[in-house]
Amino acid sequence: MKSLKDYGKELNKCSKCGLCESVCPLFKINPNDCVASKGKFIMLHGVTKGDLELSDKINKYIDLCLKCGKCKEFCPSDIDVCKILNTAKYEYSRGKYSSKFVKFLQGKYVFDLIIKIGKILSAPFRKKRTKPSDDAIKVIYFKGCVNQIFPQTDNYINKIFKNDIKIIEPDFECCGLPFLSEGNMEKFVICAKHNLNLFKEKEYDYIVTDCASCAGTLLDYPRYLPTTLINPSKVINFGNLIALKDYKFRFKKQIKVTFHKPCHLHNDVFINKIFENCENVEYIPMEGYDDCCGFAGSFALKNPKYSRQLSKQKAQNIIKTNADYVVTTCPACILGLKQGLLLTGGKTKVVSLLEFLSMSEIK
Ligand code: SF4
Ligand code: SF4
Repeated sequence: MKSLKDYGKELNKCSKCGLCESVCPLFKINPNDCVASKGKFIMLHGVTKGDLELSDKINKYIDLCLKCGKCKEFCPSDIDVCKILNTAKYEYSRGKYSSKFVKFLQGKYVFDLIIKIGKILSAPFRKKRTKPSDDAIKVIYFKGCVNQIFPQTDNYINKIFKNDIKIIEPDFECCGLPFLSEGNMEKFVICAKHNLNLFKEKEYDYIVTDCASCAGTLLDYPRYLPTTLINPSKVINFGNLIALKDYKFRFKKQIKVTFHKPCHLHNDVFINKIFENCENVEYIPMEGYDDCCGFAGSFALKNPKYSRQLSKQKAQNIIKTNADYVVTTCPACILGLKQGLLLTGGKTKVVSLLEFLSMSEIK
């Protein structure tokens, strides 16, 4: 794994053009030079040259990032902000008592135990899978931690796909994202290696998930570990699969719906097609449909003020559409959207795409 020093050359590629500032959602609400990647890179370049220490103050700015990747998208030098910040966080955390505590919480006696207990308790509420047909599409289902605990998603999948897919579900660990962003690189690597091993020697058409963050992290594995086991064209969202199957959905009464695109959802072309296939549904695109919901994992805990501000902005855009439902494809975004609507008094219901479609009659 590369150290922060190894990124010195990449950090030096920053031309200080400031384009990242114009797209960074946090810079828009807190126009402090150290918030967007330009300022972060200037500080971290100073660290790699030995001019600055990786101090608590710098760590505050490392944590002040949604990892939304908007800056990288527009950066003419294509600097990998998330990877650099995750590496800086790892180096900052080493040996810190606070990080030892975080690592304890993320270890087998707390995090792993919660997931294990959740899996056991939710098992009786999961309906038996429908027997797949002979020509069913073979998918590896990467369930993600939230769906390990809550059984509903499995039941929505059964209802929508019936016998059209054959689900292969190896015993995956967490995708590793919560560990990566806390500088717990050791645990991230353990999860990534474990999960990658489970893709080996399996025959499948797609790796499918209903969590944009999980999918984004699976696609990120090759950036941290040398592996050829992830084929980006095979990692898809259930939405892609639904669009591929061309199902038709009939809702009993006329409803209005809008869509929030999670930052880590790479491909959202399915959404128009799915809503076109929904009878009695009017799709109203919202302004800033791909703006971050403000939750961003531990960001909401570390920066509650900014998290609330961003989720309120998002909620105002949702309310403007007058939609009955806001649909998304990431369990963490569901929390961010609910937070915003709660703070603004919005009445729009927040649902996952699978839950939304399960409310209909499917043909
Ligand atoms: S857009 Fe890229 S090159 Fe321009 S200031 Fe930001 S990080 Fe530097
Ligand atoms: S990843 Fe997002 S929040 Fe972080 S610096 Fe880039 S644009 Fe700003």
